[in-house]
Amino acid sequence: MEKGSAGVAGPSSCDGFEMARSHKVDIGGLMGGGRQVLVVDDLIPIEEFEGTRFPDPAVVHLEMRYIDHLLHIEGAIDVRAEGPCDSCLEDVVRSIHADVDERFDPHPGSEGDPFGENNVLTGDRLDVADLAQQLVLSAMPMGLRCKDDCKGLCGICGANKNTGECTCAEVES
Ligand SMILES: [Zn+2]
Ligand SMILES: [Zn+2]
Repeated sequence: MEKGSAGVAGPSSCDGFEMARSHKVDIGGLMGGGRQVLVVDDLIPIEEFEGTRFPDPAVVHLEMRYIDHLLHIEGAIDVRAEGPCDSCLEDVVRSIHADVDERFDPHPGSEGDPFGENNVLTGDRLDVADLAQQLVLSAMPMGLRCKDDCKGLCGICGANKNTGECTCAEVES
């Protein structure tokens, strides 16, 4: 319904607001022993996933340490997920919280493992956006539910059974 003067996705005249993919952290100094801990506080946009939207950027807090030749990342990620209830299709808003406790080997052996599960870490660049995306998705519940005992939709008339009875309620097959 909106008559959008604002809607036209104009070319990049916006004032240097960087989009995703620029959330890279240089951990070189950390690995060089120059720093004990590297703290990252960032807001990371999370990409839509199977119908679940993330309207606000995730609030990411990470603390990185380099211990015994491994990069330890601890912290938390919080984001609001929005999507249809699996059962009744009403929109649901849900807070997702992911505890972060990860270890990465910044020097993956000379084999150069092509399956190195982390494209998160490339050389001494850590892609915080990739990391956040993966962690948020793995923290997602299997399906969003508006409530644990959602009654879903009537299979006959499609009415939302949470909001009242429909007339087919007595028919049993
Ligand atoms: Zn529901
Ligand atoms: Zn019905």
